[in-house]
Amino acid sequence: MTITKKLTLAPIIVLLAVGVTSALMLDSYLQSVLKDRIKEELSGIAASAMVAVNALGQAADIESFDALADRLGKSSGARITIVDGEGVVLGDSELLLEELRQVENLKSRPEIQSAIRGGYGFSERYSATVNAAFMYVATQVTSKYATSQQDPAIKSRFIIARAALPLTNINKAMAGMRWGYGLIIFASFSGVVLLGLVASRLLAKAIQNERMVLEQRVSARTKEISLLQNMSGLLNACTNVDEAGKILMQILPQLLPDLKAAISVTRPPRNKLTLLANWGGEWPGAESFKSNDCWALRKGHHHTSREQETNVVCEHLDDTLKGEAICIPLLAQGETFGVLHLISNESQVSDNEFKIATSAAEQIGLALANLQLRNDLRQQAIRDPLTEIYNRRYMKETLRQEFSRAKRLHTTIGLLMIDLDHFKKINDTFGHDTGDLVLRRVARELRKNSRAEDTVCRFGGEEFCLVCPDISLENAQYLADKFRKRIRNLDIRINHKPIDTVTLSVGVALFPHHAHDAELLLKSADEALYRAKAEGRDRVMVSLVNKAGVKSQFLLI
Ligand code: GH3
Ligand code: MG
Ligand code: MG
Repeated sequence: MTITKKLTLAPIIVLLAVGVTSALMLDSYLQSVLKDRIKEELSGIAASAMVAVNALGQAADIESFDALADRLGKSSGARITIVDGEGVVLGDSELLLEELRQVENLKSRPEIQSAIRGGYGFSERYSATVNAAFMYVATQVTSKYATSQQDPAIKSRFIIARAALPLTNINKAMAGMRWGYGLIIFASFSGVVLLGLVASRLLAKAIQNERMVLEQRVSARTKEISLLQNMSGLLNACTNVDEAGKILMQILPQLLPDLKAAISVTRPPRNKLTLLANWGGEWPGAESFKSNDCWALRKGHHHTSREQETNVVCEHLDDTLKGEAICIPLLAQGETFGVLHLISNESQVSDNEFKIATSAAEQIGLALANLQLRNDLRQQAIRDPLTEIYNRRYMKETLRQEFSRAKRLHTTIGLLMIDLDHFKKINDTFGHDTGDLVLRRVARELRKNSRAEDTVCRFGGEEFCLVCPDISLENAQYLADKFRKRIRNLDIRINHKPIDTVTLSVGVALFPHHAHDAELLLKSADEALYRAKAEGRDRVMVSLVNKAGVKSQFLLI
């Protein structure tokens, strides 16, 4: 049974119990009032009978008593019986004179006994003579008026007048009343039941509506949680910030569908932020701004522009902005990685939208921190810390990838192996720090003068290596010579004093001319470099090794 049914039935049952109990109590009260009234009436009739008996005087005989009983019975509507002190019936309004002789003695009747003893008797009982239940009131006529002698049938000097009314009268009256108050109780009970049913219907409907609202709220929360989890999982799998931006563009509009929003991220230089993603319509803010232009970044926690109390609008936002705008910083490990901006299309961003945005901002901040950490680690793994160009490990990986690409596309790979000439001498003459400076300057120069698709690496010590995809041997040679000239012309000064001219030797090898795999290509370039050194340094030499790795006397082009 549902709680609504229980709530409806309980008062109905209580009401029914109270109604029935009250009806029973009322019934018994009315019955006793009615009986008291009848008893009073009977007492009055009996008293009148007593007066009438007295009026008969001592000469009265049984006939006159019976006639008196008949008369009194007719006028009062009650049964009147006149009895002497021995219980002999002298007259009865319901019996004929001849029948009186056969009537049994009434001395044993409780009302008669009481009347003989105390002058007044009352009883309620069944009368076998007339086959009905009666109420009797008996009154003794005092001895002064008592009759005797005249009629031999009259044995006693006491006369008792008894009035009786059948109890069926009471029952009839009660039945009428019962119908009356039964109807009232039924009507009130039906009314209450009807009201209860209507109330229960309304209650059930209200509960149903409340439940539906609650279910909708729970399902919305569940969707939000699952979207946030999904977003977090996807962000952690991203390899760069732009990829993260695409994920955010897919998920955040579902979480904050009624807002205009955007995400700006910190990119080098560190104090600048650029727009990574935006949704909900045209973004009324700057594409790029300084961190100082955002109050949220200055405060280190969210900032509301166009608030009711204050109206401090961030510099990066359009100041014609109508609705409320909130900037939430994307923080993690004490660092700022960007800002999540929200602009309300209504007057305010709702509490729920703000809560969702705050949780999303926490996750985005963590994801951006992770991306940066991974990127830093990766850079550390593939870059040479001194020159910041790629290291040998990265070069080998690049070479492997370039080989599979070149083989697939039937293109070439040029490899330039570069070694600084007499570098030891620079170290010895100007010190190790100057040697480091020279290495950095050379690396910068190589990077500056190489093509975008070339990979410039520090091979080790004072040796550099360039992987140049899709290049002719001529162009590779030309590039190598360009480097040689550039380095030669470098003006490196220590304390305003120029150091010795830095020169370099380059060995050039080309896939597929000189080798068919990465290892052989490196060996070929090394062989050319060795010869460049041997022939006097500060020069470019092309490998003489053929595809099979066999060194020939002549240059094969
Ligand atoms: P060659 O013309 O035959 O190449 O002569 P070289 O002196 O350049 O060659 P060598 O192999 O004899 O010496 C290389 C020197 O480079 C020795 C080493 O101290 C120096 N070197 C290697 N790595 C670094 C570095 O990171 N910083 C500095 N300052 N010097 C380095
Ligand atoms: Mg060397
Ligand atoms: Mg050297």
